[in-house]
Amino acid sequence: MIDPPSIRDRLEQQKARIRRAATAAGRDPDTVRLLAVSKTHPVEAIVAAYDAGQRDFGENYVQELTAKAERLSHLEDLRFHLIGHLQSNKAKHVAALVHGPAENDAREGKRGARVASVQTVSTTKLARELAKRVGQRGAVDVLVEVNVAGEASKSGCSPEDLSEVLDAVEAERSLRLCGLMTVPPFDDDPERTRPHFEALFELATRHGGRQRLPELSMGMSHDAEVAVSCGATWVRIGTAIFGPRPPQN
Ligand SMILES: *Cc1c(COP(=O)(O)O)cnc(C)c1O
Repeated sequence: MIDPPSIRDRLEQQKARIRRAATAAGRDPDTVRLLAVSKTHPVEAIVAAYDAGQRDFGENYVQELTAKAERLSHLEDLRFHLIGHLQSNKAKHVAALVHGPAENDAREGKRGARVASVQTVSTTKLARELAKRVGQRGAVDVLVEVNVAGEASKSGCSPEDLSEVLDAVEAERSLRLCGLMTVPPFDDDPERTRPHFEALFELATRHGGRQRLPELSMGMSHDAEVAVSCGATWVRIGTAIFGPRPPQN
C-alpha cells in the first residue's frame, strides 16, 4: 500500500485522467464514474481514499468483501461493488450486504458499508440464486459480465447467451438490471483492447441500448482512456490509485 497522502493525489490524478478522456471523446465527463478497486489492499487504503472523497470501491473476493464491510460499518455512504467471479453458493454472503429501504434496515439493525452492485452476474442460475437471497431485503444493481473474447479461462457469459441472462435478471424484483461489464484479455498496448470494448458497446446497443443497459463497466489502470472513448460509464482502477497489489498466496 502507498501512503495515504499519495492515495489522495493518485485518486485526483485518476479522476482528472477520466475527465480528460471523456472530454477528448466528446462525452460529458459526469457520465463516467471511477470505481476504486481495493481488492487485496488493507482497509486503511480504503479509508484514505474515502477521506479524499471516493465512495465507490470494487472488490473481487466475497470473504474479503464481508470482512472489509464489517470493519467499515461506520462509513454509512461507502458503496462496494463486486467485480470478481461469484459462485452461487456465496450469493447469500453478498446478499447479506445489500441494504433495503431505510425502515427495513433499521429493523434488521443494518447500517454502514453496503454492496451497491454486483457486476459479475453471468448465468441465469446465479441471477436466480442472488435474487432469492436478496429477497425482501431490497434490490441490488446488476451488471451482466460478458466474455467478449470467448476466452476459455474467463468467466462471463458468451454473447450468444446474453439475451437469456438479461431476461433472467429482469425477471427478478430484487435485481435491477443496469448494464454490462467485461474484462477483456490483457494487452500491453491498450489500442489492441479497443475491439473488445467496442464489442461490449455493440452488444449493449443490440440488446436494448442505453434505455435498458445504461452502464458499461470496462477499462482498468492501463487502458482507461480507450474504454472511455468506447463508451465506458464505470472505469475500474486499482493499481494506479493504490499501488501494486501484494502477491496472493
Ligand atoms: C483488479 C481488477 C481491476 C483493477 O485492475 P488495475 O489494473 O489494478 O487497475 C479492474 N477490474 C477487475 C475485474 C479486476 O479484477
